[in-house]
Amino acid sequence: SYVGVHSTSFRDFLMRPELMRAIVDCGFEHPSEVQQETIPATINGNDVLCQAKSGLGKTAVFVLATLNNIRPVAGAVSAIVLCHTRELAYQIKNEYTRFSKYLPEIKTEVFYGGVPIKQNQDILNDKDKCPNIIVGTPGRILALVRERTLKLSNVGSFVIDECDKVLEAIDMRRDVQEIFKATPHNKQVMMFSATLSKEIQPVCKKFMQNPREIYVDDEAKLTLHGLQQYYVTLPEANKNRKLSDILDSLEFNQVVIFVKSVQRAKLLDKLLNSCNFSSTCIHSGIPQAERIEIYKQFKNFQKRIMVATDIFGRGIDVERVNIVVNYDISEDADAYLHRVGRAGRFGTKGLAITFVATDEDKKVLESVQERFEVNITELPATIDSKTY
Ligand code: ADP
Ligand code: MG
Repeated sequence: SYVGVHSTSFRDFLMRPELMRAIVDCGFEHPSEVQQETIPATINGNDVLCQAKSGLGKTAVFVLATLNNIRPVAGAVSAIVLCHTRELAYQIKNEYTRFSKYLPEIKTEVFYGGVPIKQNQDILNDKDKCPNIIVGTPGRILALVRERTLKLSNVGSFVIDECDKVLEAIDMRRDVQEIFKATPHNKQVMMFSATLSKEIQPVCKKFMQNPREIYVDDEAKLTLHGLQQYYVTLPEANKNRKLSDILDSLEFNQVVIFVKSVQRAKLLDKLLNSCNFSSTCIHSGIPQAERIEIYKQFKNFQKRIMVATDIFGRGIDVERVNIVVNYDISEDADAYLHRVGRAGRFGTKGLAITFVATDEDKKVLESVQERFEVNITELPATIDSKTY
């Protein structure tokens, strides 16, 4: 099957019964391949570096592992999870809430920039509210560590999701290193991504001790089976008309349209709304509280069209997205793979359409096809809606 589901059961992992009950409530019947291969190592306390395709359940690996392994101490943080965007941090926090349903003694909080730091301080300074698990973005977490509001001397699990992205930017990597230094030497370190280039692997492993390296999917075979991928060659000036044709003619549940800048996101969102396409839009120019509301609206199916910059390009899990349009192609092949992975979550079907307007665009598309051994063809005149 698409998701590589094995006949094993979550029971085989011998996790705490409270977690087993939550897994049943979440409707998870069988572990996916990445869960199958990675959960046992994480439960055993190993450091783990894990690469597996988008949408096949990496989050549950570290959420279940940390919840299973944690020995909560009142008033102290025992596990920390870092990722690169605020919406993703928020989403991961909600996964902790789902899976810790029957573990009322375990509290999780999410901290990220763009909201008053006082709110975070008030929580951390209150012994009854202090979380056992913290999810957050590196900048805000480091700010709290530096002012000593957040003490990490009790941390037993250190997780980085989308680790290549987090560690590839020098400033974010520096923040992570400083946070890491505030944690005890003995702890479990786990990192996850769909893309882990040969260059970034040693950087990740510097944080680990004898890690289990689990590469579920060959670098070259990371494209999703259920996803159809097409391109359209057109001049920049025709993008709007083509997009409106696509939105009119294709049946979709939800669609994400990626653009390359905040300015272009604003303009396109405005244009779509003026043409009676009820779209919403997410980018770094929107105040943080509003950004989370927009994310929630889309996740809850209140909006069906999202115009987004790359802040929505990785990690975000919206089950009903079945079409991704690259109105502007991504900067590189890895970013392309993450973007189109927003459609076709957990083995569902999907469609990705990329606009190619310049020679540069063409080069990116070629690099995608080379790196991921995929053949992206021209968008046909019609597509059977049953196939995506
Ligand atoms: P990844 O991080 O690998 O891209 P996610 O962790 O975001 O993928 O999971 C993608 C979706 O699959 C989520 O909606 C999640 O709830 C769902 N999912 C994960 N594991 C299972 C499972 N074993 N059975 C059913 N659904 C699952
Ligand atoms: Mg993920």
